Amino acid sequence: MSYKTLKDFDLRGKTVLLRADLNVPVQDGAVTDTTRIDRILPTITYLREQGAKTLILCHYGRPKGQVKPELSLEFLCPVLAKQWDVPVSFAADTVGPQAKALADNLAEGEFGLLENVRFHAEEEQNDPAFAKQLADLADIFVNDAFSAAHRAHASTEAITNYLPTCAGLSMEAELNALNEALEAPERPVLAIVGGAKVSTKLSVLNNLVQKVDYLVLGGGMSNTFTYASGTDVGLSLCEKDMADEAKAIMAKAKEHGCEIILPKDVCIVSELKEGADHEYVDRTAIPADKEAVDAGPAAAEYVAEVLQKCKTVLWNGPLGVFEISPFDFGTNTVAKTVADLTKDGKVVSVAGGGDTVSALENAGVASDFTYISTAGGAFLEWLEGKTLPGVAALESNKKAA
Ligand code: ADP
Ligand code: MG
Repeated sequence: MSYKTLKDFDLRGKTVLLRADLNVPVQDGAVTDTTRIDRILPTITYLREQGAKTLILCHYGRPKGQVKPELSLEFLCPVLAKQWDVPVSFAADTVGPQAKALADNLAEGEFGLLENVRFHAEEEQNDPAFAKQLADLADIFVNDAFSAAHRAHASTEAITNYLPTCAGLSMEAELNALNEALEAPERPVLAIVGGAKVSTKLSVLNNLVQKVDYLVLGGGMSNTFTYASGTDVGLSLCEKDMADEAKAIMAKAKEHGCEIILPKDVCIVSELKEGADHEYVDRTAIPADKEAVDAGPAAAEYVAEVLQKCKTVLWNGPLGVFEISPFDFGTNTVAKTVADLTKDGKVVSVAGGGDTVSALENAGVASDFTYISTAGGAFLEWLEGKTLPGVAALESNKKAA
């Protein structure tokens, strides 16, 4: 991967257009999770110290190209100011005279927030003229929104045709972590893929079997693989119509020297509720009137054994219905093993996915992983082996500073 970083530019007195992802969760007008705001603090601090004049560019919700006052970003200014400890002023439009006035009024080391870029339909159309209008506001474009990089939009893709472009510090950290996990990893590499359905992760599985040494399957999708291998799985979540796809993935794994690991034992229940009666049985012995909802102790033990040989771990998707206790057992046990190996410097561990992040937080070990991606859709598309337009645009940018 080759792209420019902040360190490649002299930023003093320059106007920087910073693409950020501040699409934060809000309830009753209050931000309920500041993770996305906090993640780009290193970039904010760096830009301030270097004396850049920074315009922040981001989307919020789905206004679908229309001005929707309830999706205005103005409410974020005091929240950003508090989390970053810098004043943040606001422009009531993303481009045009109001945006220009905001840019002109910034002193070195100051920050301004532009209105929701998705109020303009041209944004999602990746419109060149709109990208040019954005570019006219600044001297340098900094993309620090990996989580928006799977979209070819004016503020992630087209804009790079008009400004010298580089990655922000959090984009750089994410790209480094992902590169270390899958593109240029230390081997052996073990990937864990769980979650509910095979159908939502076919491309992920197809990509991973070509790249990793071990693929641990868990969650509902492992039932589909068990079924495809010729055993019934009772009332378990199982996509029988995906059996041929599962078989094809198993064949492809064999061809590429990737060992697929299904859970040795599973947790079975008659009803899925908190603290329900449960027992652990071999995955080939699920009774007709029960469903498998988690991986068992023998499964976790075996994964731990294989992990001893590995240098890199990549994880997406919980191994069981972790939202309901004690069916978070499998996920928690394997998560603790990965966390301990990471703390001992034995493996590099990278995990991502909406529910995966919650599951690892629930296990109490998220902060012990080498890197946790909160990029959702962009993380999954990267796992699928797709080229992300926002990242490709960073790499192809040839505009001189
Ligand atoms: P992510 O958001 O991290 O990509 P997914 O959305 O693919 O993860 O999967 C998470 C969901 O899978 C969780 O809601 C969990 O309850 C469900 N799940 C895991 N194991 C099972 C199972 N054995 N049966 C039914 N659902 C499961
Ligand atoms: Mg999910």
